[in-house]
Amino acid sequence: MSAPMFKQVALIGIGLIGSSISHAIRRKGLSARITGHARTAETRAKAVELGLIHSAFETPAEAVKGADLVILCAPVGVCGPIAAEIASSLAPGAIVTDVGSVKAAIVRDVGPHIPKGVHFVPGHPIAGTEQSGPEAGFATLFDNRWCILTPPEGQDPAAVAKLKAFWESLGSNVELMTPAHHDMVLAITSHLPQLIAYNIVGTADDLQAVTNQEVIKFSAGGFRDFTRIAASDPTMWRDVFLNNKEAVLEMLGRFNEDLSMLQRAIRFGDGDALHTFFTRTRAIRRGIVAAGQDTSGEGLYKSRTAAPAADVKK
Ligand code: NAP
Repeated sequence: MSAPMFKQVALIGIGLIGSSISHAIRRKGLSARITGHARTAETRAKAVELGLIHSAFETPAEAVKGADLVILCAPVGVCGPIAAEIASSLAPGAIVTDVGSVKAAIVRDVGPHIPKGVHFVPGHPIAGTEQSGPEAGFATLFDNRWCILTPPEGQDPAAVAKLKAFWESLGSNVELMTPAHHDMVLAITSHLPQLIAYNIVGTADDLQAVTNQEVIKFSAGGFRDFTRIAASDPTMWRDVFLNNKEAVLEMLGRFNEDLSMLQRAIRFGDGDALHTFFTRTRAIRRGIVAAGQDTSGEGLYKSRTAAPAADVKK
């Protein structure tokens, strides 16, 4: 059997993404050892109990000692302080990456703490569910999903290539781009839809008082999908919006203009305008399906039932 890709992977944060990475690492035997740290003792104990990590540490600095790959899997807003805490414990030659849904803020907050001789390659797997915590993860989460890497200019090509190979072994397709481009693309494809889901569920909830439970009763329609998305972790999404402010506000501005246009068309009975617009969006949907990006109708989110337990090597 060939040697594992890494001697020790350190997971800082062991929730949905951290635990899924552990499952996928063990599925392929990509690391000889997995160490970890999470904020609470409860999550650390659960991660050991579930076999997600070999050893749990009370501090992130202890967890990264000796690791040749460190993956920050905590909410975006705490990655800067974590980087400051682990900086002096990072092994020379190690790769430090993250999975945060925002990239420019990670480069800004984490980058300055990474010592010389340690390779910093930020990343973002475009895969998730609305679940969180160490029990939420599963080995197939990243299969056939994109993972975006945003290496700073001049970063060691060998480190970037190794991290790319790692994500491919986890099941992903990998693309490289700049942090700013990532944040703009994700603002429209992920962050704005999430905000719309939060907003529409909130609006419906306000209405519920007057509509006598009808919101719940008839939620078998499109609204049900919005409630699922709006059940996502509030801490994670708070940090996404606070840290991708400019791009989200730019997309929100465009969105409001288009919505006003549709509002006008409805008000003035402009059926042609509505039909033309809906025909255009239908073609986009068909393009996504043709590109194989919505094979099972699950969109960005996967169902946990997609995870066969037998896949996972303990
Ligand atoms: P999650 O299930 O809520 O897990 C977050 C983990 O971070 C928990 O283990 C938590 O520990 C730990 N944590 C929180 N604050 C910490 C701190 N100060 N120090 C150390 N650990 C800390 O979240 P997730 O869904 O895995 O998201 C993690 C990251 O992945 C986020 O940056 C998010 O943007 C990104 N991401 C998420 C998705 C998604 O769909 N969920 C998709 C792609 C990327 P405790 O349990 O002890 O609090």
